Amino acid sequence: MIPFRYERPDDVATAVGLLSREPRGAYLGGGTNLVDLMKLEVARPDVLVDVRRLTSGTIDDLPGGGLRIGAAVSNSHLAADLRVRRLYPMLAQAVLAGASGQLRNLATSGGNLLQRTRCVYFQDLTTPCNKREPGSGCSAIEGHHRDLAVLGASPECVATHPSDMGVALTAVDAVVRVRGPEGERTVPFGEFHRLPGEAPERDTVLRHGELITAIDLPHLPVAARSQYRKIRDRASYAFALVSAAVALEVADGTVREVRIGLGGVAHKPWRARAAEELLLGAPATAVTFRDAAEAELVAARPLPGNGFKVPLARNVIVGMLNDLAEEQR
Ligand SMILES: Cc1cc2nc3c(=O)[nH]c(=O)nc-3n(C[C@H](O)[C@H](O)[C@H](O)COP(=O)(O)OP(=O)(O)OC[C@H]3O[C@@H](n4cnc5c(N)ncnc54)[C@H](O)[C@@H]3O)c2cc1C
Ligand code: SF4
Repeated sequence: MIPFRYERPDDVATAVGLLSREPRGAYLGGGTNLVDLMKLEVARPDVLVDVRRLTSGTIDDLPGGGLRIGAAVSNSHLAADLRVRRLYPMLAQAVLAGASGQLRNLATSGGNLLQRTRCVYFQDLTTPCNKREPGSGCSAIEGHHRDLAVLGASPECVATHPSDMGVALTAVDAVVRVRGPEGERTVPFGEFHRLPGEAPERDTVLRHGELITAIDLPHLPVAARSQYRKIRDRASYAFALVSAAVALEVADGTVREVRIGLGGVAHKPWRARAAEELLLGAPATAVTFRDAAEAELVAARPLPGNGFKVPLARNVIVGMLNDLAEEQR
């Protein structure tokens, strides 16, 4: 590992000031992703600013409904919170579908959103990778891309975003609260992560020095009728080939409200807006569910080795909508 300096400031303002003056520094949450990447020398920060004890470690009620998740809340704490389990079951299930018990105890909510892709070439210094080294090329397009994107990719990068939690957060329209050198700002979750375009080295719209302080979940009654489903090669300790967070409300046989997030298919947690638009106000039948899934996936551009993800995603969406509708019959 390359030597680095370690700082543990006493407050958020000092942490933000410190990192803003260190162009090659990084915040440290639980370290479960960053430290692994440092050992591989994929990440080479010269200073680590430890923020695990700085941001809030609690989940608080918001006025008017909704919850505020402090950036330091551990993944285990988040998944176990009774309000999260009751009001946003897909979020609790998504978090529990990730990593392992030990990792979830250490991993923070803020860090989870900023974990890097699991594309094998990104972690292998001997191969070209535009995300790790801009302009070097993408080894995955003609190499191993079975796990990679079918939606929203670019000729520069076909990586997927690995977070399970993010898939549920995009479905509920969460808001990321950020503190930077110029003060505070909020970023709608759907705009927080980027598609790769010509700059795949940038995963998010976060500017250097900006610290995630919290994630807000809006009051969203439909989220109480939701599920998360993750399809992967092993039953645990594996990233999603395809995953989905789906919330559905049916009344008198008609779709009144629906939210669909997809994971394992794109460079960011993917909001299935085309499917949602087709479903809203339509009959809650298997035929509509299939049409909606296909409307979303018409934009898919699979590579030779990952075409299986398209029917897989369709079947996951249809199966989950059917299950949620059945519970309300
Ligand atoms: C073996 C293994 C399996 C895993 N499986 C899954 C899985 O199936 N699904 C899944 O979703 N995840 C999985 N994970 C990833 C795990 O969830 C992440 O490593 C974890 O959530 C990252 O959180 P952290 O607090 O440890 O982040 P860190 O590693 O500390 O940081 C990650 C990034 O976030 C930045 N950062 C941290 N906190 C902040 C903040 N408050 N503001 C701004 N930047 C910040 C850091 O600078 C760094 O760039 C797995 C990890 C491992 C090691
Ligand atoms: S898909 Fe992205 S992360 Fe993977 S090799 Fe290509 S540029 Fe790198």
